[in-house]
Amino acid sequence: MNRPEHTLRFLGGTETVTGSKYLIESGGKRVLVDCGLFQGYKALRERNREPFPIPPDTIDAVLLTHAHLDHSGYVPALVRDGFRGPIITTTGTAELCSILLPDSAHLLEEEASHAARKGYSKHNPPKPLYTIQDVEQALSQFRTANFDEVLDVVPGLKATFLPAGHILGAAQLHIDVAGTSLHFTGDMGRQHDPLMKPPREFEGADILITESTYGNRTHPNIEPEGELAPALKPVLERGGVVVIPAFAVGRTQGLMLHIWRLMDRGEIPRVPIYVNSPMAASATRMYHKHQEEHTIPVEEFESVYDVAHMVGTVEESKALNERHGPMIIIAASGMMTGGRVLHHLVAFGEDPNNAIVISGYQAGGTRGALLAEGATTLRIFGRDVPIRAEVIQLESMSGHADSVEIVEWMKRTPRAPKMTYVTHGEMDAADRMRFLISSELKWNVRAPEHGETIDLQHPQ
Ligand SMILES: [Zn+2]
Repeated sequence: MNRPEHTLRFLGGTETVTGSKYLIESGGKRVLVDCGLFQGYKALRERNREPFPIPPDTIDAVLLTHAHLDHSGYVPALVRDGFRGPIITTTGTAELCSILLPDSAHLLEEEASHAARKGYSKHNPPKPLYTIQDVEQALSQFRTANFDEVLDVVPGLKATFLPAGHILGAAQLHIDVAGTSLHFTGDMGRQHDPLMKPPREFEGADILITESTYGNRTHPNIEPEGELAPALKPVLERGGVVVIPAFAVGRTQGLMLHIWRLMDRGEIPRVPIYVNSPMAASATRMYHKHQEEHTIPVEEFESVYDVAHMVGTVEESKALNERHGPMIIIAASGMMTGGRVLHHLVAFGEDPNNAIVISGYQAGGTRGALLAEGATTLRIFGRDVPIRAEVIQLESMSGHADSVEIVEWMKRTPRAPKMTYVTHGEMDAADRMRFLISSELKWNVRAPEHGETIDLQHPQ
C-alpha cells in the first residue's frame, strides 16, 4: 500500500484533554499544530519523556492555537531536541507564552530539585523535562500573526487564525493544504462569557477537528456571580480562609472581576483578596492591554486592582500562610499540580472553617480531580496532607463551550465537513461528542486514536 502524500497525524490530545499535537505532512513539509504537554495521569505525563515520534529538526513550523500549556507547554522540549523553525501564533498567545513557558520551566526545575532533596523521584538524579535556557531559545523563535491574516506558512500550506474566545489570543485555525481545507477549533470559548467575546462562526471546511472537553456535559444555566456569592459568603462570615486554585490566565482575571463586583454590591463581605501569582499579575496586565479581545470595561479593570493585592515575592507568599481569615487567596495552579497554591493547601486545608473552591476543569489524575471526587488527603511534597476544609466545586465558570454550544456552532455552518474528528476530551467526553454530532447533524465523525495517521485527501 502506498503511503498517502498528504496526511494528518494525531500525536496528542486524543483520549485525553492534554498533550495536543497534530502533525500535517504535505509535499515534503511538516507543520505541527499545537505542541502541548501531557498532564494528569502518570502514564500520560511519562509520554512527555518519550522521544518525539519524528526528529524535531525535520519540522518546518509550529502553529499554536493558544497559550495554555496543554497546547504550548511541549514547545521548549521540541526546541531542545532540535526544532529551529518558526513558532507562529497570535500576539496575545505569544505574550502569554512569554510568561507561561518560563513559569513551566521553573515549575519543572523546582519539582526536580524538590524530588532530589526528598529522594522521592525515580529519575536519579531527577532532571527537569526542560530548562529556562530551552524556553529562552523557544521564545526567540516566536513569530506573531494577526487574526484573519492569510499566512503562507510553508510552500503549499496557508493558515489563518480566527478568534476562539477561550482566553486572550486564543484562536481557531483554518488551514488550506493540498486542495483540502482543515479547521481546528482549538479550545472553544463560550457563546456568553463574562470576559471573552464569542468564538468566530464556522464557515465550513473539508475536515473539522473539534475539541470535546465538555463533550459529555452541559454547563448549568447559572451566572458565576450567582454561584460564587452563596459559596463564599458563609465561609467569609465565619472568618474562614477561601483558597481558590486557579489558572493564572483567564480564570484568575474572571474570578477577580466577579469577586470585586460581589463586594461592590455588598453581596459578600469586603475582605482582603490576595492574588498570589506573579504570572497572574502579568497576565492581568496583558488582558488590560488587549481590550479588543474581551468585554471588560477599562474602569472595572482598574477598580479590581484597588481591592486585589498582587503578591510578588516568595517571602510575601509565605507570610500569607501566617495570616488569619477572613480572606480570599487566588493562586495557581488551577488543577493543583504545582505552584504556590500547594503551600496554601498545606497551610489552610486542614481547618474545617476554611474552604477550597475548585473553579475550573480538573483533568483526571490531578490533585484537583481527586479533591473534586471527595479525597480527604492530598499527597503534597511527598507527604499526605489531610483536607478537612469545605470543598466547593463551581460549575458555572468554564472557558470551554459545552457539548450543546459546540453542536449549535456546528449547526450554523453553511457547509458541513466531509469528516469530523473529535479530540481533546477524555474518552467518555469525546465519545459522547461523537455521538451527538453523528445523531444530531448526521455528519461523518469519529474520535481518532493516539498516533493515528489519516489521509487528508481521503479522510475516514
Ligand atoms: Zn485551553
